[in-house]
Amino acid sequence: MGTAVTQLVEAQSFDTLALHAGTVADPTTGALLTPIYQTTTYRQEAVGKDKGFTYSRSANPTVSALERRLAALEGADYCTCYATGLAATTVLCIALLRAGDHVVASQAVYGGTVRLFKQVLEPFGVTADFVDTADEAALREAVNAKPTRFVFIETPANPTLKLTDIERAAKIAHEAGALLVVDNTLLTPALQRPFELHADIVLHSTTKFIEGHSATVGGALITRDPELHERFAFTRNAIGAIQSPFPAWLTIQGVKTVGLRMGQHSANALRIARFLETHPRVTKLLYPGLESFPQYELARKQQTAGGALIAFEIEGGVDAGIQLMNSVQLCALAENLGSAETLITHPASMTHADVPTAQRQAAGITDGLVRLSVGLEDPVDIIRDLSQALKGGE
Ligand code: PLP
Repeated sequence: MGTAVTQLVEAQSFDTLALHAGTVADPTTGALLTPIYQTTTYRQEAVGKDKGFTYSRSANPTVSALERRLAALEGADYCTCYATGLAATTVLCIALLRAGDHVVASQAVYGGTVRLFKQVLEPFGVTADFVDTADEAALREAVNAKPTRFVFIETPANPTLKLTDIERAAKIAHEAGALLVVDNTLLTPALQRPFELHADIVLHSTTKFIEGHSATVGGALITRDPELHERFAFTRNAIGAIQSPFPAWLTIQGVKTVGLRMGQHSANALRIARFLETHPRVTKLLYPGLESFPQYELARKQQTAGGALIAFEIEGGVDAGIQLMNSVQLCALAENLGSAETLITHPASMTHADVPTAQRQAAGITDGLVRLSVGLEDPVDIIRDLSQALKGGE
């Protein structure tokens, strides 16, 4: 093995893995980038003898390259990629749950996750309890109330940014014979490493920071356990939920800079959070990178930075919040997060509109809550935009 290759193989740095893990230059052409294998079909050498690919609903070389990259970045061995983040959650559930099974999930999670459990899976006889997983006693009580197949946490939670202690949640889940699933979408492995804190499965909506440019939808399930991986791969093939080669290829390009982007998103968000915190019209502000954040110590323990998301409320309640969102010019009012551009969202009417009102309120998703997904613009320009928009209601 040549020196350069040896050094590469031994390199463990996150940014190096983000650029190189799981792919090599094409041996025939030297092409540096893994091609888009836009094919459904693979010629086989003989009956029962193939090169690992038979039909692109089961596996595709471009998608496999992305899977190797994401597994390496999370410090795991296996990954399966999906058409969307919710397709990944669906495969997780179909692979692991049977009628009569029970799941415990964080009270504040992405609204589509609640809709999937409550409106799609409950009619099949699966029950899901949404509890405050930051409250260890409540979590322990919920997992012991009924035999629980898995605990599903999102930390920080979208959109309240409430944190769950991953290591403690893993301990409680494991003592009850349950698996721990962590939705790591909001921080990515650049800022949070759930497997090092004993999670069993990591889920991503790669739509967000992993791809990072609002160009694709996609999802991933990552694990260190070969049996779980086999079940996910089997279920993905059985229901036909695999990602297509082109979005997989775009995601490989996007993820190359995830470490750089998450660092810059966090630095920008911290600056904007400090501005908002001292603004006279802001009545409540939540950002895990600020000392004033109620779970600041936990954020420091399990995250390496605060991330891109800020949640806040302004005086004047819902109407003032809506007026703010309608007045921004540079920030885009949009139903997404994790873009290179700054996005502003009204969770109660947009991303979390399908969450029952009582659960929304219990989770702290008030009607006046504004969610900002801070992008990569110069933060001074975002502050200027928010400043002019906040003047609107004065
Ligand atoms: N998980 C989180 C934390 C999300 O924010 C989302 C979408 O907003 C999803 C999962 C679902 O992903 P997708 O929209 O790619 O289906």
